[in-house]
Amino acid sequence: MKNTIICLFAAGAMAACGHANQETPTSEPTDTQTIEVSGTDTQYETDVFTTKSGKSVRIHALMHSCIRIEYDGREIEIDPCSNLNGRTVDYASMPKADFILVTHDHFDHYDEAALRLLSKENTRLIMNKTCVEKYGSGTAMKNGDKEVLADDIAVEAVAAYNTTEGHKQYHPKGRDNGYILTLDGLRIYIAGDTEVIPEMDAIKEIDIAFLPCNQPFTMTPDQLVEAAKKVNPKVLFPYHYSDTDVSGIAAQLEGIDVRIRHYE
Ligand code: ZN
Ligand code: ZN
Repeated sequence: MKNTIICLFAAGAMAACGHANQETPTSEPTDTQTIEVSGTDTQYETDVFTTKSGKSVRIHALMHSCIRIEYDGREIEIDPCSNLNGRTVDYASMPKADFILVTHDHFDHYDEAALRLLSKENTRLIMNKTCVEKYGSGTAMKNGDKEVLADDIAVEAVAAYNTTEGHKQYHPKGRDNGYILTLDGLRIYIAGDTEVIPEMDAIKEIDIAFLPCNQPFTMTPDQLVEAAKKVNPKVLFPYHYSDTDVSGIAAQLEGIDVRIRHYE
């Protein structure tokens, strides 16, 4: 079956899951549009946002869990993977990353070859503990940890786990991360592989949210709608949705700008 990405190969378990919401500068409503881009990434849909100081944030929908963000001259990659079920991302043709965030060590999020391709001398690699142990370097963040990456870039690791009986082994509580990435006050929530969890109630003032949608590993469309109502982002990208039909989500989320991109 095409594009059925699975997360079966859970490894290890770690302790303690917590969540603390980050203090947030209020960001102006984002000026959003989809534009065609030139250069090596014309095959990807790109959404452009502007921060409160007028800095540009360009979000490229690579595939599934893989997100590339260009922010004011810096490159940020989320869960870069070169090859998933026949789909590929040519990271060799992209700029090296200044920052890479990896949510957890499943193959559709953690790809050592992609990490090496994207790394340069000063690349900051932010991952969960399991990934840092596998990769041999990087900064391990656990749920609730915060890091300041630059004057205008901060990241907070937040909880991401399964709650449905029979699914908890895929993403046990406390092991994996979601992230809240703040770029000059623009708050981007990348949920990682999670179901609806109580910790989402504390996630506030989100401009852009990425919420996953493929049971049994993450959420059903109904769960995604529930999660979106908790987080209440201005813009929502359903992602990590494999062959799940996400076309009905927007109609259930009045007031949220739902954008379906190629994150199958
Ligand atoms: Zn996954
Ligand atoms: Zn996973």
